[in-house]
Amino acid sequence: MVFFIEDAVPRLCEQLCFPFYAITRELQARYRPLLEPLGLAHRLHLGLELDLEQAGVRYQKTGVEVDDQLRTSNPRISAAGDVIGQAQFTHAADHHARLVLRNALFPVPGGRVSTLVIPRVTYTQPEVAAVGIPAIEASKDPTLRVYTVAVGDTDRARTEGETEGYAKVIVDKKGHIRGASIVAEDAGDLLAPLTLAITHKLTMGQLASTIVPYPTRGEVVSRLASAWNCG
Ligand SMILES: Cc1cc2nc3c(=O)[nH]c(=O)nc-3n(C[C@H](O)[C@H](O)[C@H](O)COP(=O)(O)OP(=O)(O)OC[C@H]3O[C@@H](n4cnc5c(N)ncnc54)[C@H](O)[C@@H]3O)c2cc1C
Repeated sequence: MVFFIEDAVPRLCEQLCFPFYAITRELQARYRPLLEPLGLAHRLHLGLELDLEQAGVRYQKTGVEVDDQLRTSNPRISAAGDVIGQAQFTHAADHHARLVLRNALFPVPGGRVSTLVIPRVTYTQPEVAAVGIPAIEASKDPTLRVYTVAVGDTDRARTEGETEGYAKVIVDKKGHIRGASIVAEDAGDLLAPLTLAITHKLTMGQLASTIVPYPTRGEVVSRLASAWNCG
């Protein structure tokens, strides 16, 4: 997705609720030569034919080059989503788009792509979900500790016979969660509270004092907090 900031702002204001469709047909037609190669990363080779260089937009094989606020090398053009060659998920593209709009309309500090916490889910059976730093990185850092519980430890999982899988958190010395991964049925859903915790820098202590309804699979987060409490 690409926004042409100067011309698009009034129209974007009208359409803030629908950031994915914020470029009008008229604008698309006008800028078609530039939009085409930016639509999909694998079509970037077309950039040569379409004079991206002339527009001052630098790109590599991996995607359009952007700064931490998703501005391309032409500061009037921003790029978001798969085309920048970073996290290639629908929810990442959605947040990139919000960030571009926020930076365009309300240029206050803070809207940076490097601060986004983007969860990753692979929809296998069982699902594999992760957020933050991977456990393998934690093993290289002696200040981090990893806590693992079996998802089957919850009564809900037992009664439903879905006892396969585990949940893992990586915690720093101050109790902040730096990463989490879950392999289980509905792991992507179970990851949501841990993503919230990482995004808002909650501690394991705060998770431990949060009451989770019984019997739900969500109790796995309480089990992780108990594991942390027990050291
Ligand atoms: C098979 C598959 C499964 C996926 N499953 C998931 C999933 O489960 N969860 C998840 O989060 N992500 C998933 N993804 C990734 C997700 O689809 C992308 O990360 C997301 O769509 C990126 O959004 P985008 O707006 O950057 O790009 P896109 O959604 O690709 O949008 C680009 C748009 O530009 C248009 N376009 C392209 N070229 C031109 C042109 N020349 N002129 C005009 N328009 C053009 C395209 O038609 C398209 O509408 C999956 C991807 C694939 C391929």
